[in-house]
Amino acid sequence: MAVEWKEGPAIGIDLGTTYSCVGVWQHDRVEIIVNDQGNRTTPSYVAFTEKERLVGDSAKNQVARNPTNSVFDAKRLIGRRFSDPLVQNDINLWPFKVIEGSKDRPMIAVSYKGEDKQFAAEEISSMVLKKMREIAEAFLGKTVKNAVVTVPAYFNDAQRKATMDAGDVAGLNVMRILNEPTAAAIAYSLDKVGRVGKRNVLIFDLGGGTADVSLLTIEESSFEVKAVAGDTHLGGEDFDNRMVNHFVQIFQRWHKKDISGNARALRRLRTACERAKRILSSAIETTIEVDSLYDGIDFSSNITRAKFAELNMDLFRNSIELVENCLTDAKMDRESVNDVVLTGGSTRIPKVQQLLQDFFDGKELNKSINPDEAVAYGAAVQAASLTGMGNEKVQNIVLLDVTPLSLGVETRHGDMSVVIPRNTAIPTKMERNFTTLEDNQTELDFPVYEGERARIVDNYWLGEFTLYGVPAAPRGVASVVVCFDIDANGVLNVSARERTTGASQKITITNEKARLPKEEINRMVKEAEMYQVEDDKYREKAEAKAALENYAYDMRNTVNEKENAAKLAPAGKKKIEGAVRQVIQWLNGNQLAEADEFEEKLIGLQLICNPIIAKNAK
Ligand code: ADP
Ligand code: MG
Repeated sequence: MAVEWKEGPAIGIDLGTTYSCVGVWQHDRVEIIVNDQGNRTTPSYVAFTEKERLVGDSAKNQVARNPTNSVFDAKRLIGRRFSDPLVQNDINLWPFKVIEGSKDRPMIAVSYKGEDKQFAAEEISSMVLKKMREIAEAFLGKTVKNAVVTVPAYFNDAQRKATMDAGDVAGLNVMRILNEPTAAAIAYSLDKVGRVGKRNVLIFDLGGGTADVSLLTIEESSFEVKAVAGDTHLGGEDFDNRMVNHFVQIFQRWHKKDISGNARALRRLRTACERAKRILSSAIETTIEVDSLYDGIDFSSNITRAKFAELNMDLFRNSIELVENCLTDAKMDRESVNDVVLTGGSTRIPKVQQLLQDFFDGKELNKSINPDEAVAYGAAVQAASLTGMGNEKVQNIVLLDVTPLSLGVETRHGDMSVVIPRNTAIPTKMERNFTTLEDNQTELDFPVYEGERARIVDNYWLGEFTLYGVPAAPRGVASVVVCFDIDANGVLNVSARERTTGASQKITITNEKARLPKEEINRMVKEAEMYQVEDDKYREKAEAKAALENYAYDMRNTVNEKENAAKLAPAGKKKIEGAVRQVIQWLNGNQLAEADEFEEKLIGLQLICNPIIAKNAK
């Protein structure tokens, strides 16, 4: 299958629930790119303040100060409806506000520069994608247009399409949507040169918000996903929460004060807990310290690796249970698994590794690839492969993914009639026959659902279409063939054909509720450009202000330094002091001035000070 490739480099982006990562193929290998803070992963956070918009580390770092306008977890909302019970449940847990938009779409409501603003999940994700794109552009020194973006294997049609929309808004040409476990498997297999024959590989991904287990078979350069299992609410954030609760209780015991109602204190404690958790993956004990946590009380306490494991043991075990479910689905026993590959930051936790190893009767786990980077690594390889770069091995890669959920249509009495069963290899095309339920029925409705339950009310509605022009006949005579076609991106197209008349009709499934209309995307693209301009303007202003401040204080220090003061003519010294005082006064009253005003003041001050200093230097 050909993909559109606009000129220039192509990157791989792991768009994570909590952290994102970007890689590119260069000099015959994958380079995972560090961001402006020197980190190899970037928080999937976007924050709005009175002054500016922040993305990544800077957004996550200010969460405690600005909880209601700091947005994260957009991946949990993308492609979902507001009324979805999972969404409702998440809304109760988030500090930011999510409201019902048009067509049952969830909208994130924040205050930005003193104004109320609403964003779709696609927009927030597009801001994260754009940040990842900029990280790559800074590294490569070139514009980047093409990307492979990864999604969880269980992502449904709507979620995949919405992720592509987010890419559009970020100005990216999304060449392919790739499943995360497949990406990890690519990374793993490139690393394992020289292994021959067919291998069954289990990818165990425990990230920040979700746990995903996938079973693949790898043969030569071909990757086939056999089965997937997952829990959308199991990961590092839950482990952090357990530790937070533990310390809330300790604080209560020590100080007889309940901090559980104080969002800011909890947030600061959570940040400290995440850090402690990471340390406990290599050390067996650590201290957490938060100054003035609550009521001016400094908090400091120890926690051991064993205690941390005890606090989370049930959650760890739940993640191992997913492995069992996945193997059952794939009809495979644990002895048939050749390799167990760890991905996701939380697989660094020693207890998790131990439980997994025990499950596989002591088998060595594969830790050769960096768990936080494996997915982006694989995405970068796929991007290289699609653009004709990379070595022979990269070029030969063949991916065989599966549909994570069964797809079907509603039939009589609200039953689900499956057209494509779960875990079918994609791309795929499958047909089923349907007929009329009533005499002389000339129209047939096909509500399309996704899910494993027998009744459609328990499954997920994807959209629906109507086939018109069915020839009038007694019930059960007309014969309609419905064809479901899933492409390599996992995106569904549906068509229907009436057999007796031979008339065929191609129908695109309309899923208005989950999908953004084209105009909406265009609006978002325009707004994204506007935000970019605003961000740049803000930065320019901040820089101009800092330059003026620095120069003014520099001058003040220069004339006050003993040896300089002795050399300077008193009149010159006075002149500088006066001018500096004036500028500092002006700065105090004009913190919100425009960049050119700051620049003008700087030039004015330099014109006064520089000649005096220069004379002195002679
Ligand atoms: P995502 O779910 O967003 O894809 P990642 O796979 O990047 O997330 O994993 C992020 C999670 O991994 C976070 O909860 C983070 O705290 C956790 N994590 C990162 N490094 C470590 C470590 N050394 N020990 C334990 N947990 C870690
Ligand atoms: Mg991940």
